[in-house]
Amino acid sequence: MTEIKLYNTKSRQKEAFTPLDDQDVRMYVCGPTVYDRAHIGNARPVIVFDVLYRLLRHVYGIDHVTYARNFTDVDDKINATAQARKEAGAAGSLVELIHQRADETIAWYLEDMNALGNLVPDQAPRATEFIAEMITMTTELIASGHAYEAEGHVLFDVTSYDRYGSLSGRSIDDMIAGARVEVAPYKRNPMDFVLWKPSSADLPGWDSPWGWGRPGWHIECSAMTKALFGERFDIHGGGLDLAFPHHENEKAQSCCEAGEDSFAQVWMHNEMLQVEGKKMSKSLGNFFSVRELLDQGYPGEVIRFVFLSTHYRKPMDWTEKKAREAEATLGRWHRMRGENKPSKVPQAVLNALADDVNTPKAISELHDLAKSGDISGLLAGLEILGLRTINAEIAADIRESWKELIDQLLMDRKQARADKNFARADELRDGFARAGVLIKDTPDGPVWELSKDFDAEKLEALR
Ligand code: AMP
Ligand code: ZN
Repeated sequence: MTEIKLYNTKSRQKEAFTPLDDQDVRMYVCGPTVYDRAHIGNARPVIVFDVLYRLLRHVYGIDHVTYARNFTDVDDKINATAQARKEAGAAGSLVELIHQRADETIAWYLEDMNALGNLVPDQAPRATEFIAEMITMTTELIASGHAYEAEGHVLFDVTSYDRYGSLSGRSIDDMIAGARVEVAPYKRNPMDFVLWKPSSADLPGWDSPWGWGRPGWHIECSAMTKALFGERFDIHGGGLDLAFPHHENEKAQSCCEAGEDSFAQVWMHNEMLQVEGKKMSKSLGNFFSVRELLDQGYPGEVIRFVFLSTHYRKPMDWTEKKAREAEATLGRWHRMRGENKPSKVPQAVLNALADDVNTPKAISELHDLAKSGDISGLLAGLEILGLRTINAEIAADIRESWKELIDQLLMDRKQARADKNFARADELRDGFARAGVLIKDTPDGPVWELSKDFDAEKLEALR
């Protein structure tokens, strides 16, 4: 059996991975807060842990791995988006609008992550389905002296856990000095964090021993992993930004309940993603959702390939240059396919992935397989990385064959605007959108792209 080695944040070392039960390997990854489209940074943990999931299934068998990724569907940001809709005149109560927003965001998320070639996890628990478990855990933490109630809140007492800070490598004093923690009068220690808080009458809430309220964020994952996996499980993943405070707090809650060797055995964190060398931020205008990139015409495989070209523990830079190179590589491999079928996964690719999910090394092995003419091996290697080859020329050919019509329709649109024929101008604008033709008006005139959902018939109808 291939020996897998994983870097464990808890021990700060690469360790040989031995599952608690090789018949039921369990992995949990913190999923999104569902208030808006996933940005491309959010896709990084999804892609990284999808590759690990595929590797675990390969080594232990498809039926012997359980992967759970949650949806955080109770949060102030979801409430705020629903509130904005209500103010804009949307029908329904605030609570209904909150549910709608969460449902719609979850559907987008699954669609976008599917486009990037990710498998659907075995379990996708929603926080709101596990409120009773969170209340139970909170009650138990109060009973054992690790938490206390104050002014309708329940807080975890960080001084009651002497290992607090050990996962992320901080002492409580450092944290107090360095962190912008919320200093609330009801907290005994500024680092104490919320297990339960009061909710107003118009916001989602649940009855509890501490009144009408809702859970804190960290208790969600502790309660859900316990419900799905029991007190101990194998791997816990997420972005490095979650190591503190989220994961530190999850670990404190769970280990205070069930002992220091409980909860996750291996903690894994992916480094963050940047865009063209800069932190992604809305104010810099380099903030993309996954959907925007797909709509700009980057095939999902190209995006995935770019992500996998950097090891997950290194910061990763999204650049257009990398995307173009990835497209060329996947196009070249596509032309090599012929009638070949995937063989079994080449050992060199497996060895790379088994070495702390070294995807750039695995990709360099794919280049070697292509060079040596082992196309069946190449295809098998692509498969375990969740990649497909792409027909880059077809994409370019299709673009070429519709160019004349699209340019003509853009001229029509210009004319219609000049004639103040707004009906025709609007018809064209909406028609392009329906046909999946993305138009961007620039100072040099309009430019366009065909999206993945391009529909030729709908374009023809605009003639
Ligand atoms: P959130 O919805 O903000 O809780 O984030 C969901 C997941 O995306 C978490 O695992 C985060 O660590 C991860 N994440 C957020 N931003 C980035 C980024 N820029 N690069 C990599 N991972 C990120
Ligand atoms: Zn979590």
